[in-house]
Amino acid sequence: MKNINFTCPFCSLLCDDIQLETKNNNLKPLNTSCPLLLSSLKREIKEQFPRINGQKTNISQAIENLSILIKKSKSTLFAGMGTDIKGTKATLEIADIYKCIVDHFSGDSYVKNIKSVQELGGFFLTLSELKNRSDTIIIIQSSYDTAPRLFEKYIFPKDTINNLKKRKIVFIGSKVPQFLYKNIKKISFEHIKLDSVNLLNFLSRIRNSINSEVLEIKDRRLLNFLKLLKQTNYGSILWSVSELDNNINDLIVTEITLLIQELNKFTRFSGLSLSGSDHILTVNEVMLWQTGFPIRTSFQNGFPVHDVNLFSTKRLIDNKEIDLVIWINSFNEKKIIINKKIKTVLIGIPTHPQKKNVDVFIPVGTPGLDYNSHLIRLDKVVTAPLKKVRNISLPSVDQVLNKVKERQFQ
Ligand code: SF4
Repeated sequence: MKNINFTCPFCSLLCDDIQLETKNNNLKPLNTSCPLLLSSLKREIKEQFPRINGQKTNISQAIENLSILIKKSKSTLFAGMGTDIKGTKATLEIADIYKCIVDHFSGDSYVKNIKSVQELGGFFLTLSELKNRSDTIIIIQSSYDTAPRLFEKYIFPKDTINNLKKRKIVFIGSKVPQFLYKNIKKISFEHIKLDSVNLLNFLSRIRNSINSEVLEIKDRRLLNFLKLLKQTNYGSILWSVSELDNNINDLIVTEITLLIQELNKFTRFSGLSLSGSDHILTVNEVMLWQTGFPIRTSFQNGFPVHDVNLFSTKRLIDNKEIDLVIWINSFNEKKIIINKKIKTVLIGIPTHPQKKNVDVFIPVGTPGLDYNSHLIRLDKVVTAPLKKVRNISLPSVDQVLNKVKERQFQ
């Protein structure tokens, strides 16, 4: 048995303060009860066979089969994309050779942020600023269960570098996050209860009232909120697109971005989108470095073409516009879409419940658990190195895809 320092790969907070007790591949966190980490480490790997049509096979046969499917395919989609920097790079090499399309599990919500940045730009926040500098934090409808320690580590930290004493927290939304609810007696925060439609109205009224004289504003809630914004020296606004009404979440993101721009005319405010689930930020950043385009990009024409609607996973599968989909997920057991009329490959963790339902299943290890890796943090300013902590001989996503690439000319 030994205790080691561990950087957790299971969400984009990439907590690097974890002490892990390791004993014969059993891993137990000693200083956190993060539910996502605990449930991820609890998965018991009983068998790690690759499968073809549900039947057990060996890894070379499964990779051979995948290579044949890609060569035969007229249109291949890489979906899910739960992988690290090396896995994304290897995917892009295959996508370039075989003219594939690349999307991600969180594509639907993330593209709302992409569109807003493309049209309006933005002022962005780091987690360090959030923790150590923000005197006002506005949280817009974000329970953020996908990054369970966000509140504990960055919004209500035990201490801050510059000893920030007074901090005002306002939660705007319909459902109070678990953390706030559980600690309601210990922490102080204000809750403005609004559903998505009223939230959009509220934000828009705030933005339009910023330059009004206080006496002209009759709504007390609006007035108090405006006063708070005007007294702020270093403000943060957080939001989570996936928790907003899907029909108007793009309008809300636009309104938040415009509000931040307006606020920066007299004080400092910046924003952080909490939409980093399944490491979409890592995948997206690598795509931007390598191709100049974000997720939902096709290489079918021999050069990258980006379209947030045309290259949506669900749309491509529903309309059968592809004949092969390769799902990648090396972090968790998230459900994948299987359409029996489209060949489906899953490169996933060995416990994935749908491994027998796909044409080819190739088991892979988890970055930062079974092999060394790099992942990008939620605020995109830190690329964290992660170390192998478990002794299981599973390949990584990039190793599998590099083997497929080697078979290109065979
Ligand atoms: S918050 Fe995220 S990174 Fe931190 S311990 Fe939990 S799952 Fe891991």
